[in-house]
Amino acid sequence: MQRLAKLIYPAQCLTCDEMIEVERGLCPKCWSETPYIVDHPCDCCGRPLVGDAEEGDLCDDCRSRPKDWDRGRAVMLYGGNARSMVLRFKHGDRTDLAHPMGTWLAEAAAPLIAPETVVAPVPLHWLRLLRRRYNQSALLGQRVAKLHGVNYIPDLLRRPSATRKLDGMTAEQRRDTVAGAIRINRAQAGRIEGRPVLLIDDVLTTGATLGECAQACRKAGATSVHVAVLARVDREA
Ligand SMILES: [Zn+2]
Ligand SMILES: [Zn+2]
Repeated sequence: MQRLAKLIYPAQCLTCDEMIEVERGLCPKCWSETPYIVDHPCDCCGRPLVGDAEEGDLCDDCRSRPKDWDRGRAVMLYGGNARSMVLRFKHGDRTDLAHPMGTWLAEAAAPLIAPETVVAPVPLHWLRLLRRRYNQSALLGQRVAKLHGVNYIPDLLRRPSATRKLDGMTAEQRRDTVAGAIRINRAQAGRIEGRPVLLIDDVLTTGATLGECAQACRKAGATSVHVAVLARVDREA
């Protein structure tokens, strides 16, 4: 039956019109244009390390400026087909991408997940949520938690005030802009006390927002805070 369905409806590449054999995949061309991060990433921000890197190594940036979270992983570098995929997912109503991208993210985040881990997304301000109709990070988080069979709390964190868009800002401006913008949801705080938390976001640029989220989780008693993102912007902050 499945085979028949496939003959009638061949699968389409996630990012172009090309027909492919596997469902929810990329055609060879789009695949080759997607900068997946393989081998040894920085253990904190997930960017690929150059040279002889070992498991657990950090990039220069994370060594000189420790982040507010413990460990991190990213699926891809923010560029090429990865960028266009993230933008379609975020602004193009392509919520169907949450399934394959959440699967990739679950795989990348595997070293950071323990049975007692609680998964939570970076929150959107309600106005932005209203406009976009979905929180792309929440869709990803849901998939990651489901695949690993761990707890998922979509409303663990809140963003009570709207902050300006961070695009084009320096690391310092980003930090100032999001300072104090993230709060723990008091009704859920008890569920992370004494437990590790894995934060989910779509893009990691300087880490200002994730840093705020991590601080809020620590204050609520999380034992560790890791982050997993779809795409890492690879430029010096
Ligand atoms: Zn394609
Ligand atoms: Zn790093």
